[in-house]
Amino acid sequence: MGRRAHSLVVMAQNAYLTGMAIREIIEVPDPRLKTVSTPVEAFDAELKALVSDMFETMYAANGIGLAAIQVGVPLRVLVIDLQPEDPDAEPEVCNHGGHEHTHHPTKREPQVFVNPEILDPAEELNTYQEGCLSVPDIYADVDRPKACRVRWQDVEGNLHEEEMEGLMATCIQHEMDHLEGVLFIDHLSRLKRNMALKKLEKLRKAA
Ligand code: ZN
Repeated sequence: MGRRAHSLVVMAQNAYLTGMAIREIIEVPDPRLKTVSTPVEAFDAELKALVSDMFETMYAANGIGLAAIQVGVPLRVLVIDLQPEDPDAEPEVCNHGGHEHTHHPTKREPQVFVNPEILDPAEELNTYQEGCLSVPDIYADVDRPKACRVRWQDVEGNLHEEEMEGLMATCIQHEMDHLEGVLFIDHLSRLKRNMALKKLEKLRKAA
């Protein structure tokens, strides 16, 4: 899942520092994004390398979540880091959005989900404005269950289960959609989806 870029400078620095580990993010209309990803069976060094590359790629692109298929690997692997503001850190002055203000620097909370499953999604829905690293610069409101129980494996193959809510519930559902070949724009009406894709085409031509 993407978020509005806070600073292009930070993105460029990250890309430079992390160098080789950054993989290319595939974007719409690449047909690979429609792939149904397959379960991970080998919890080996290759999986760990994939996961660390996915984190580097996600951070460099200023995202909060990434599915393996977005770097062209059709395996059921997700990385998420909501990078919340750290209330213990010294506030810093910032001028993104065109006005000077202060906020707490964000902290990293990397989480890996291998072979994730959603159990008991809540009936009540939440609406978030979503974005996606594979649908750059497009944002739209999507309704999803506001909470869900998630079962997954870590890179060692150990099972975990946890109740998720808020942005985390939305983010994991967005990423899980990628494992089924579904994008957040597929949740929009055909009219809104076509408008979003046209806007993306225009932005690309202007770039
Ligand atoms: Zn996405």
